Amino acid sequence: MFLTGTNAVTIKGQLVNLDMIGNRVAGIAFGPKKVVIFIGVNKIIENIDEAINRIKTIAAPLNAKRHAEFKTPCQITGECIDCKSEKRLCNIWTITEKSYPIGRIKIILINEQLGF
Ligand code: SF4
Repeated sequence: MFLTGTNAVTIKGQLVNLDMIGNRVAGIAFGPKKVVIFIGVNKIIENIDEAINRIKTIAAPLNAKRHAEFKTPCQITGECIDCKSEKRLCNIWTITEKSYPIGRIKIILINEQLGF
């Protein structure tokens, strides 16, 4: 069983994620027999375009601040400049439309602001 979070979930239930190396999205897509995703209300977004925008403008720069050793531009400015940093956090996008097989991915919505 793989327990994780998501960068965003649309009101249609699509999961939108952006990873540095892909370990999280890999586990969501394939491998573990069961995946449980915990999602705070702040991650519920209208649609995929808004989810992508939120991730690049809010989630990724905030995540970069947690990793002082990475020294990405957004750590200093708080804004994404689509950098070419060696330690760029934004490398692998995934959109999970549905769970295959049905029931492999379970979502737990939590009525709190959780994570970025
Ligand atoms: S692409 Fe670079 S500047 Fe933009 S959020 Fe990701 S790490 Fe920060």
